[in-house]
Amino acid sequence: MSYQIAIDGPAGAGKSTVAKAVAEKLGYIYVDTGAMYRAMALYLIRRQIPAKDAEGISRASRGADITIAYENGAQQVLLDGENVTALLRTEEVGNMASASSVNPDVRKKLVELQQALASRENVVMDGRDIGTCVLPGADVKVYLTASTECRARRRYDELSAKGEDCDLKEIEADIRQRDERDMNREFSPLRQAEDAVLLDSSDLTVEEVIERILALCR
Ligand code: C5P
Repeated sequence: MSYQIAIDGPAGAGKSTVAKAVAEKLGYIYVDTGAMYRAMALYLIRRQIPAKDAEGISRASRGADITIAYENGAQQVLLDGENVTALLRTEEVGNMASASSVNPDVRKKLVELQQALASRENVVMDGRDIGTCVLPGADVKVYLTASTECRARRRYDELSAKGEDCDLKEIEADIRQRDERDMNREFSPLRQAEDAVLLDSSDLTVEEVIERILALCR
């Protein structure tokens, strides 16, 4: 049996940073499920399918070939064979991912891919519905959150460091909107699994969060 660590939480809580570090320490594979929803979003943007066109999204999503590969331990997302990893972490793609991930056909397709990965390898998987839906039997479940202001500031710093032009107030508004949508959607809404441990990272350093999760795994 493979060993599964599920880390869920809202946008900007620091999931990917800590999940990556925990995976590295344990020698597990890190699976960033948000990147899969983002790759699907990129596919839809390229086909100019509007976020509100549920039927168009359902139809188009069936044709998207999304696969995961690892390069020096880092997850790469391939969309129809093209490595699109570097194109995924923009606000445009994130907003489309948030809108299109409410679609049950999109979710079904990506959840199957995630479950197949986790059945073969020891994984640290992060997302919104890992502990509640994708891996309900995960060995360790963490719900990682932080205040909205804190999460907006972190995303702002991340984008600014990459040289992207961005506005803190706009990012905060996007985060509020994304939380609202992720938490209130009909299929697999973002919520803490009953058996997940709640971690608020607002006043913790990245190292402290990593250490707490490693302690849970031990
Ligand atoms: O985590 P990240 O910001 O990359 O995720 C992008 C979007 O994908 C989220 O806003 C969320 O709507 C969606 N998502 C999801 N389920 C997951 C991971 C991400 O619905 N397991």
